[in-house]
Amino acid sequence: MKGIVTIAGAGPGELEHLTIGALRAIHAADVILYDALIGDSIIAEFPRNAKAIYVGKRCGNHAYTQTMIIAAMIEHAMAGQKVLRLKGGDPAVFAHLSAEIEALRHLGIETRILPGVTAMLAAAADLGSPLTTRGISRHIWITDGHSDDLKKHAASMAAFPGTLVFYMGAGRTCEIAQLLLSHGIDASKPCVLVENAGSARRTVSRGSVADAAAGAITRCTHGPGILLFGEALSEKTAAKEAEYAAALQL
Ligand code: SAH
Repeated sequence: MKGIVTIAGAGPGELEHLTIGALRAIHAADVILYDALIGDSIIAEFPRNAKAIYVGKRCGNHAYTQTMIIAAMIEHAMAGQKVLRLKGGDPAVFAHLSAEIEALRHLGIETRILPGVTAMLAAAADLGSPLTTRGISRHIWITDGHSDDLKKHAASMAAFPGTLVFYMGAGRTCEIAQLLLSHGIDASKPCVLVENAGSARRTVSRGSVADAAAGAITRCTHGPGILLFGEALSEKTAAKEAEYAAALQL
């Protein structure tokens, strides 16, 4: 009998943001392959008799390539075990999900996916900001700040009437802001960099696109960071929306 593979999002790293479904999957697992950003409070929930395999790529550990991770999932599932692949944030957001499910389904291995709290949502909660606001910002554009494609979309991004969210862009904050400025984004638009979102170690650097382009919004830690631009993040906008809601007696 083949085992089953669960690919679960663990949220931004600590137990506080783990779903009950993911916690149940942890408690039921025979084998857990887990990423770098899974925090100690989650690791403490791993059953003592489960095999825990660290497959993270942070801190110079590149022992497990994506191919090796997939091979390990297959090997353990074929041996009839309950395999849990635990990923940071949500498994559908920049997390190699398609390669993993394709390989597993191709071999007829039962696979289920459990969503998690993605970094963007943890960052918004830390900021106490919405990502959309009535009338002002009704869209979210999620992208990869590390991608060479950014230049191709820069003009559309600069004109985008919503919140721009860059995963993997923390180290390129200045460059990204300069690119957007050169394509005409409003220089006063809020820009925020949140590192270690969803944990007690979170840091927030705030300013405008102009500040970011001048190099004034930079990393404070070695942890993961997410970069956001948009009117919805303005503290003034939040106050305006509260006023609007009060006026409508919502
Ligand atoms: N699947 C993950 C994203 C993986 S890509 C998710 O849904 O969150 C890795 C990138 O995610 C990092 O470079 C960073 O931009 C972002 N990220 C992950 N965890 C984060 C955190 N706790 N705080 C800020 N950004 C984070």
